Amino acid sequence: MDQKLLEDIRELKAQRRAVLLAHNYQSAEVQDIADFCGDSLGLSIQASKTDAETIVFCGVRFMAETAKVLSPDKRVLLPDRRAGCPMADMITAEELRDLKAKHPDALVVCYVNSTAEVKAESDYCCTSANAVAVVESLPGDRKILFVPDQHLGRFVEQRTGRQMILWPGYCTTHVLISEDDVLQVKRQYPDAVVMAHPECSEPVKDLADALLSTGQMIKFVQDSSARRFIVVTEIGMIHPLKKARPDAEFFPAGTRGVCPNMKKITLEKVRASLADLEYQIEVPEEIRVKAAKSLQRMVEIRPGN
Ligand code: SF4
Repeated sequence: MDQKLLEDIRELKAQRRAVLLAHNYQSAEVQDIADFCGDSLGLSIQASKTDAETIVFCGVRFMAETAKVLSPDKRVLLPDRRAGCPMADMITAEELRDLKAKHPDALVVCYVNSTAEVKAESDYCCTSANAVAVVESLPGDRKILFVPDQHLGRFVEQRTGRQMILWPGYCTTHVLISEDDVLQVKRQYPDAVVMAHPECSEPVKDLADALLSTGQMIKFVQDSSARRFIVVTEIGMIHPLKKARPDAEFFPAGTRGVCPNMKKITLEKVRASLADLEYQIEVPEEIRVKAAKSLQRMVEIRPGN
């Protein structure tokens, strides 16, 4: 580990009065220098409660946007401007407006993995942890448009028994994990508990013992007496799980669950970001206010995420 690099980051953080956030899918070394690690919404909420002047979001663009939506007076930095999320980019605000025009009576629920513009066009946001509770809270006679992740949408349909109109978006990383990847590691460790993220494809989810968001995975392993777990999500998740249960063993389902966008963030880029105050994330006020409302409606249904 480059001690000078770590020292530079600490100094710059103090100078900039910055708080450093790292998503669960970041590399271990980035997670280890962060003030807070976790899921994207939880991190944005935590940062909004600090008196920091600057938020450095080690994650992807929509996450930094969410932080800006909740902390409009703070400077929000994304260390690599190319760190986007293909799923979030699979629906534009214009496409959502067109869909709404076709279904004028429908309510729109959007996964937090979406742009601020799409959140602004939505009635409710949801996370993978609370999507079921959000949909269950909606009047039974209303049609629901669910964007952008079809796989999370199908999981919600199964759990709630409600049919929704699903946008055909997907996470380009989670869908790469195949049934064979899971079966191979299961054959090696037949006693291991299989935890999968709802963004995975349906055949993969059918092989899981538990379908959980990243935050729920941490709680699940802490409460479990099992000693071995197969982790069917982005590979970075293994690091916080090991911290939560140092006595347990965690096995990824193959090697394909790596999000190249998440991994664009490096310690060198974090240092450069703090030094040069780049790349600043801005959300136009009109969009920010509307996006904040759809997030707020979600929090009113399920406080604390
Ligand atoms: S893991 Fe999937 S949803 Fe998350 S940032 Fe990467 S592409 Fe987007």
